Amino acid sequence: MGNTRADELKLKLNELSNSIEPKLSKQLDLEKCERNINRLAEFSSECDACLQNFSDFENHLSQLLNQKESINKQDIKTHTKVIRQIETHLTDQHDLVSSGHYTGIYMSIGLSIGLLFGLVIFDNIGFGLPIGLAIGLAIGAGKDEEAKKKGKVI
Ligand SMILES: [Zn+2]
Repeated sequence: MGNTRADELKLKLNELSNSIEPKLSKQLDLEKCERNINRLAEFSSECDACLQNFSDFENHLSQLLNQKESINKQDIKTHTKVIRQIETHLTDQHDLVSSGHYTGIYMSIGLSIGLLFGLVIFDNIGFGLPIGLAIGLAIGAGKDEEAKKKGKVI
């Protein structure tokens, strides 16, 4: 795929972003959309699924642009689903992670361990939770930073 097609799609995305309320733009997570587009374009010459996802996203975006005055909850839901599907493919097949991926994972691990330790050692959940959370956050943020350096974050 030439870069032109990706550029055109990003122009459309920009057009949508300029013609809707900032709040809606945030709900649609248009910044993330642009990153997804870049990745799909990057892999589409060697991956059919990426090319397919790209084409699907083109259609989806045209549809959103056509009805930009009347984007409703259902449309946002569909949009979120489309984005998630693209991300799932990128993470499963292309070894990428979404932004904040590790922080999310390690935070929940930290919380569970903190809960357990709080109960077992201190006999007090309130003791373990913040410690577990802090450790989880630190490890997760470090791993996210590392992934970012490697260019693995979508
Ligand atoms: Zn792919």
